[in-house]
Amino acid sequence: MTPDLLGLIEDALRAKPERDDKALAHMSAVVCDRQSWAERKGLPFEPFDFRTLIKFELGHQFEAAIADTLQAELERDYFISRDYAIAWDPIRDVTHAIDEQNPAKTHEIVGHVDFYARSRHGTEHDFLLEIKSTSFLRGRIPEEAQPHYVEQAALYAAALIVPHFGILVGCRESGKLAEPFWFETSEKLEWARARAQEIIESTDPRTYMPPAEPRTSWGCRTCRFSGCERNPSYVAPSMEAAS
Ligand code: SF4
Repeated sequence: MTPDLLGLIEDALRAKPERDDKALAHMSAVVCDRQSWAERKGLPFEPFDFRTLIKFELGHQFEAAIADTLQAELERDYFISRDYAIAWDPIRDVTHAIDEQNPAKTHEIVGHVDFYARSRHGTEHDFLLEIKSTSFLRGRIPEEAQPHYVEQAALYAAALIVPHFGILVGCRESGKLAEPFWFETSEKLEWARARAQEIIESTDPRTYMPPAEPRTSWGCRTCRFSGCERNPSYVAPSMEAAS
């Protein structure tokens, strides 16, 4: 008898530990405030299907390979931090690295920066990069960055006061990479402070459920919070009771 290899893969992927900071506000909460509120509140979500788990794994491997390569090439001129965990208080404009001695607090917003490069030749050369893997539609390289990628990276850059930030997007199927999309943090600073505070407040699990207003066109199609009436798999409580 041969082992059930697909079963083993699925079990291993499902057993990966989840982040333990789900109750906090996150800079990556770009899809929908209601979805983020439900996550912070600990409401039940549908599990990821096996295909999605595999795609995530491919994406992580793809992004890690790109970051490894860049780090090796840039280290002579930059100090590189990867998956750098930070917490930002946008009202006082204070940011700190998260570690055991300095955990994030409920009035802060948390971020995990993919690639943070601090120059050895002056802070004006510092930058951060969000590395994203996706599938290019019909293999076509995108001409602009998706707005939700830009929003997420702008929050990181504003929290760290990094002068420039970039989005590097690759297709995990074709292996194609787009030219990085670069932005000046100063142009997004005011917006980022306001949006950070909005996320902290509107996704606070002690407040009422935010309106069903996804910030991306595909938000509801991929949403696993089945307690929302806009979710395609939503079942109204009365219908559930009657069935
Ligand atoms: S179904 Fe749509 S509106 Fe409802 S929580 Fe999910 S993403 Fe938001």
